[in-house]
Amino acid sequence: MESLRQVMSTFATGVTVITVGGANPHGMTANAFCSVSLDPPLVLCCVSGTARLHKAVAAEGHFAVSVLCAEQEGAARYFADRSRPCGREQFAPVDWLPGPRTGAPLISDALAWLECEVTEEHVAGDHSIFVGRVLDAAPGTERTALLFHGGSFRGLADGSVTAARPDGTVSAG
Ligand SMILES: Cc1cc2nc3c(=O)[nH]c(=O)nc-3n(C[C@H](O)[C@H](O)[C@H](O)COP(=O)(O)OP(=O)(O)OC[C@H]3O[C@@H](n4cnc5c(N)ncnc54)[C@H](O)[C@@H]3O)c2cc1C
Repeated sequence: MESLRQVMSTFATGVTVITVGGANPHGMTANAFCSVSLDPPLVLCCVSGTARLHKAVAAEGHFAVSVLCAEQEGAARYFADRSRPCGREQFAPVDWLPGPRTGAPLISDALAWLECEVTEEHVAGDHSIFVGRVLDAAPGTERTALLFHGGSFRGLADGSVTAARPDGTVSAG
């Protein structure tokens, strides 16, 4: 439904690369990623049922998330390009390290990394919602975030900040 695509593109998101380790490591650019629960620590990602990553996550039972910074737009484009190679060779253009808990590639210089074990898969239309229990989460570089809005990659425009308090209320900073 084109209007749904258009409407959802108004919702600005961050951009991640979701990866799976094992004998055939794989990565995919994704913005359908969010936090679910703090206790227990759970996140989710939505993956197209026809994506190679879907098969990889289902087979290995884990995934890792690298939250990209503004300088990593090239990596976001690369991991969304279906002509990229398969397996370990796929990661040759980027610096990465194997995640200590899962072995899944963690993209160097990302804003943050999470490693998760899949606890639930919910098939929802043409995607699956993978819920992951967070095994490890670490902050990375302190750069600005890469954003996706209106079908385009963007940076943060004016640098103005409104701080959110832990109780969810906000104050202009
Ligand atoms: C900013 C951004 C955010 C994104 N967020 C998400 C997200 O949250 N979830 C998500 O699932 N995807 C998302 N994508 C899309 C995803 O990154 C790409 O589709 C990526 O190529 C999938 O990688 P893959 O290797 O897992 O699947 P691929 O093997 O690359 O397949 C991707 C799609 O292309 C089709 N395909 C493969 N080969 C061919 C061919 N020869 N001819 C025609 N069709 C073919 C597949 O059936 C599948 O539907 C996002 C893309 C961008 C740019």
